[in-house]
Amino acid sequence: MNAIVVVGAGQAGLQIAECLRRGGHSGPLTLLGEERWPPYQRPPLSKKYLGGAVADERLFFRPLDYLAKQEIEFRASTQVVAIDRANTRVLLANGEQLAYAGLALATGARPRMLPVPGAEHPAVCYLRGLEDAQGLLVKLAAAARVVVIGGGFIGLEVAATACAAGKTVTVIEASERLLARAVAPIVSQYFADLHRTQGVALQFGAQVTRLVPLAGGGLSVELNDGTALPADLVLVGVGGLPNQELAAQAGLTCANGIVVDEFARTSDPLIVAAGDCTSHINRRYPTPLRLESVQNAVDQAKIAAFSLLGLAQPYQDLPWFWSDQYDVKLQIAGLSQSHDTAVVRGAAVSGAFSVFYFAAGALVAVDSVNRPADHMLARKLLSAQRAVTPEQAADVNFDLKLLL
Ligand SMILES: Cc1cc2nc3c(=O)[nH]c(=O)nc-3n(C[C@H](O)[C@H](O)[C@H](O)COP(=O)(O)OP(=O)(O)OC[C@H]3O[C@@H](n4cnc5c(N)ncnc54)[C@H](O)[C@@H]3O)c2cc1C
Repeated sequence: MNAIVVVGAGQAGLQIAECLRRGGHSGPLTLLGEERWPPYQRPPLSKKYLGGAVADERLFFRPLDYLAKQEIEFRASTQVVAIDRANTRVLLANGEQLAYAGLALATGARPRMLPVPGAEHPAVCYLRGLEDAQGLLVKLAAAARVVVIGGGFIGLEVAATACAAGKTVTVIEASERLLARAVAPIVSQYFADLHRTQGVALQFGAQVTRLVPLAGGGLSVELNDGTALPADLVLVGVGGLPNQELAAQAGLTCANGIVVDEFARTSDPLIVAAGDCTSHINRRYPTPLRLESVQNAVDQAKIAAFSLLGLAQPYQDLPWFWSDQYDVKLQIAGLSQSHDTAVVRGAAVSGAFSVFYFAAGALVAVDSVNRPADHMLARKLLSAQRAVTPEQAADVNFDLKLLL
């Protein structure tokens, strides 16, 4: 028996299962998801879905009968509560046990909770899954005043959607700029200006100290500088935590994620992991990464499937990401954290520009705002590790395609 069990039926779990079938795994294949739905896309949840423009079914990756046709046994509402590595079995919440010859963990991540008094109030929302989004949609419709805690991608996308729906929106950010961990100050400034122009109030360097219920309904969001903001709805977007507990309890090495090598293998040779739940090695980078992105979930899942098929291939795909806010598309290629030089191609005032990041003279990342062609080119340049100079990048008259 060569049964493979995949735990977590999200972006990475589905990709692992499909790659296993495409790659020739002909034995039993079971995809276990604790949520009620078939595998679905999360990115629209903070964007078009929250704007009311997308039906639940449109989020599903595949038609309902697709998995059955692939002979992938998909079980919804099925939580794995333990991994018995000694007997190569997983234990389900309903008491059932499933034996595996190979096991893939794709358990994703969850929102970091706001650690302040009053945060358990029903007007305080988080956004990770479809159930969260369904609840948020209803609460948003009834709310007039929305406070978003956290000026990261999810917070800003919700702020943009709420603002477009006519709500009074305030974003509270602990650091001095938006998206501080992901982009250069010029991009942060662009998004701050964009949100302010749309009518969103931004408060920087602000810490939430507590949330106090108001007599007439809603909450008062109290900040460390003494400000109190009334809110009918509070959306917390202060980062994610990897769902690593199942792995850790089974004795697998975990450190800010399930630790995997460049072949997506955990510390147990029969178990691989992929997606938001992993701390992983990508050959492009000297230190382990934990990324929450569609690209990583998809590309790393393929590596995990290859390993289960005995065809180990190293993970070396270029990370990329996108975010939609209002009619602006931000696209990120590569990781800019190590940069020492950044140059701008185009002009921020025009609403279409890219920032090229260099470390020790080498191009490491490109953020593009409403310049999709730059983004696609950047992915090719970075993937092929082509030499680009800051002067070439900053010169809009220089055709970067010539470097490919
Ligand atoms: C609101 C939102 C917007 C986003 N926007 C973007 C974007 O614009 N661009 C981008 O690149 N990325 C975006 N992302 C990130 C992207 O969606 C994730 O990186 C991706 O979904 C990760 O896939 P995954 O399979 O690792 O995890 P998930 O998709 O979270 O899947 C994990 C699944 O495992 C299940 N699970 C966990 N534990 C168990 C268990 N013990 N038993 C059974 N099932 C279990 C979970 O319930 C979940 O269904 C967004 C994410 C969110 C939440």
